[in-house]
Amino acid sequence: MPVKSVTVRVPAKVNLQLSVGPREADGFHNVVTVFQAISIYDDVKVTLSEPKSGVSISITGDQTHGVPTDDSNLAIKATALLAKEYDLEIDAHIEIKKSIPVAGGMAGGSADAAATIIAIDYLYSLGMNREEMSEIAAKLGSDVPFMLNGGTAIGTGHGDQLTSALSRGTYHWVLALSSVGLSTPAVYAECDRLRSESEISQPQTNELLMQALLAADPKSVGKNLVNDLQAAACSLRPALRLVLDVGQEYGALGALVSGSGPTVAFLVSDEEAALDLAVALTASGVVGSVARAYGPVAGAKVLT
Ligand code: ATP
Repeated sequence: MPVKSVTVRVPAKVNLQLSVGPREADGFHNVVTVFQAISIYDDVKVTLSEPKSGVSISITGDQTHGVPTDDSNLAIKATALLAKEYDLEIDAHIEIKKSIPVAGGMAGGSADAAATIIAIDYLYSLGMNREEMSEIAAKLGSDVPFMLNGGTAIGTGHGDQLTSALSRGTYHWVLALSSVGLSTPAVYAECDRLRSESEISQPQTNELLMQALLAADPKSVGKNLVNDLQAAACSLRPALRLVLDVGQEYGALGALVSGSGPTVAFLVSDEEAALDLAVALTASGVVGSVARAYGPVAGAKVLT
């Protein structure tokens, strides 16, 4: 009997490096970014429905606020693109159990798009290879190809051209979450505004970070975290500076705003340090909520 339903589990990401080049003529920026997939997951369940019923969506879990349930949801966009490219009639219900914070700089929407590509490939037996999946993914958003891959990877271009990074060891993170997200385009625009008087060169891979990852040296990784969008995120949300200070005061090895924020990611030495910092951040009263995670973990995959 044909399979009618599948659940794909997909992780969140943090950016260990996000170096942003000048604004190009097309409005985009070239970046060099180092992604790490971390152990906070959305589960995307896709169930085939009656012919001609179209695609519907429901959102459950603890991060539902602000997730669109119309055609602008990236999971629905993924089905529309696959239907077009593979000449399919897709009739399905998508249920997203969301744990990845929305608009938090952790690529939650991109993760759901990646999971949907895998689910549709599975249910419609498309037999897509990795390259075909990555091509579709890149059309949906710069972060989507990485969410298929997971692990640790360097993204260039718009962040969608991936090469694996040589990384060893497990890294422990404490994440300070905000209840209100930041818009990625607004953060890029603020970054351009703040840098309007400066000469901006093309971004380069941070070799010290790469060496630290290869050496499985969390102290050195912590020292070499970089995010060119951090100043812009802090300018739009000044309270983030306080969050960064509190975490560092309590012994984090490194701290940075993740992606376009407002999530702040703290790297710590082990699980015990993660628990201590999570308690300290919660007690400080400067953060909305706190989560703990480790990475790298695998990318989107079918739950068996
Ligand atoms: P990135 O790190 O890739 O910049 P982000 O984590 O900042 O992404 P998302 O969680 O992907 O941001 O949400 C950004 C916006 O995308 C949301 O405000 C929402 O309107 C829209 N969106 C579309 N589909 C989804 C989805 N499946 N889950 C969450 N947000 C979605």
